Amino acid sequence: MGDKIALEMRYGATNYLPLPVVLSRGEGVWLWDDEGRRYLDMLSAYSAVSFGYGHPKLLATLNAQAQRLAVTSRAFHSDTLGPFLAKLCEITGMDRALPMSTGAEGVETAIKCVRKWGYQVKKIPEGQAEIIVCAGNFHGRTSTIVGFSSEAQYREGFGPFSGGFRPVPFGDVRALQKAITPHTAAFLVEPVQGEAGIVVPPDGYLAEAALVCKANNVLMVVDEVQTGLGRTGKLFAIHHENVKPDGIILGKALGGGLLPVSAFCAKESVMGVFKPGDHGSTFGGNALGAAVGLKAIEVLIDEKLSERSATMGAYLLKRLKAISSPVVADVRGKGLLIGVELDPKRVSARQFVETLLKHGVLSKDTHGTVARFAPPLIVTREELDWAVDRIRDALGEYGPVYDKEAA
Ligand code: PLP
Repeated sequence: MGDKIALEMRYGATNYLPLPVVLSRGEGVWLWDDEGRRYLDMLSAYSAVSFGYGHPKLLATLNAQAQRLAVTSRAFHSDTLGPFLAKLCEITGMDRALPMSTGAEGVETAIKCVRKWGYQVKKIPEGQAEIIVCAGNFHGRTSTIVGFSSEAQYREGFGPFSGGFRPVPFGDVRALQKAITPHTAAFLVEPVQGEAGIVVPPDGYLAEAALVCKANNVLMVVDEVQTGLGRTGKLFAIHHENVKPDGIILGKALGGGLLPVSAFCAKESVMGVFKPGDHGSTFGGNALGAAVGLKAIEVLIDEKLSERSATMGAYLLKRLKAISSPVVADVRGKGLLIGVELDPKRVSARQFVETLLKHGVLSKDTHGTVARFAPPLIVTREELDWAVDRIRDALGEYGPVYDKEAA
């Protein structure tokens, strides 16, 4: 194990500090390291592996399509892209979809689209379009996107940044209303802030924000890269409040945990601003990604994974809340996107996830104080029980624990 880590650390750029485990195999919700030790994956590649490892239908589609046709570029049509785009529009309720590969590219696509809409449709003076964003946001790592991050480390040393972004506090509709000017093109928001530490806004926030946007001719674009496709217990997190936005960004699980596949989906009046040559990407919409993306959506619906996420998420939340430990400050989340906030005076989230690793549970710290639990949506109650028992044991290393729901 040590030599593989050393090789990666010697030749890789030092932009990551992975946990000290070398993974070599995955099946369902389980991962094995190179020495045969088994772990329950409670991270799912930051929500990209909602279907678990080696899902037979996704693997069959990947293999068959890779042998038939993979990447030809958008210079030509393919026989898999149309059905994928149609399915994306069907599930999002949007009119058109623009496929890309990574989540950040989906967000960049949305930014370009709403700005162009601002100039062409709303008649904002050229170069003055503004996008309102939320404090604590995470939309990816491109230089434009980190420019409107409120996280100092994401910005430090990477300027100068693109202007035209105005931050408001997350969860505060009045602040959104006050920030709108005649130059506001759009409001970009995550329904639940994942990287900020699983921050769930007050009930009704998204629905009210949608009304404010509509009343002011401002587009509402939701970033469902992490929260979408069943993660929070509904197909999309905005469905908890019946919100109908103007655009939705998808990514992560859209690639079935096998490929990078993302998309910006929007209403005709919004997406209609793009003309040939305005935007594109060599790999976006490739035949292989489209086939796997379509199958991922079909599996999600056929296997009722959103519903599963709701019931299993409620169960996991209940079990985690039943553990009393002096180091736990809060337990929160929606569906299978759950954060356990630790008291930083007693233990850092990094220390805690390293302890969890020893106990056979893979998780990741976010924001220094939160351990996130987001297993594949196929996880069973027994597997969650196994994980919670290990989490309780790990907490026990930092003080006395009492588990009211212990089996
Ligand atoms: N948007 C949200 C809400 C995310 O959580 C992420 C990644 O964590 C992204 C965008 C960026 O996605 P990617 O890492 O695929 O660029």
